[in-house]
Amino acid sequence: MISAQQIARLAKRRSCPRCSLEKTEGAALCRRCRFKLPAHMRLPLQEIATRDEGVVTGALRAAANYFEIHYKSIRFFGGGRVR
Ligand SMILES: [Zn+2]
Repeated sequence: MISAQQIARLAKRRSCPRCSLEKTEGAALCRRCRFKLPAHMRLPLQEIATRDEGVVTGALRAAANYFEIHYKSIRFFGGGRVR
C-alpha cells in the first residue's frame, strides 16, 4: 500500500517513474505512458493527490501489470522501474 505522503511526492515529481520523461504535476505517470493504458485504468492515475491511497495503489498496480504483459520490451529501453 502506498502512503498518502508517497502519493503526494509522486504527484509533485516532474519526471515519469516509468520512462523518466517529463510528466504533468498531479499525475502518477507521464502522458505517453498513461495513453498506453485503457481509459478506465488511466483516469485514477490523474490528480492522484486528491484520491484515496487504496485507489492510487490499485491503479498503479493495475498499470504495472498491464505494462508487464503488453509492453515487456519497453523496460529494456526506458529503464523505468515499475514498482
Ligand atoms: Zn512515462
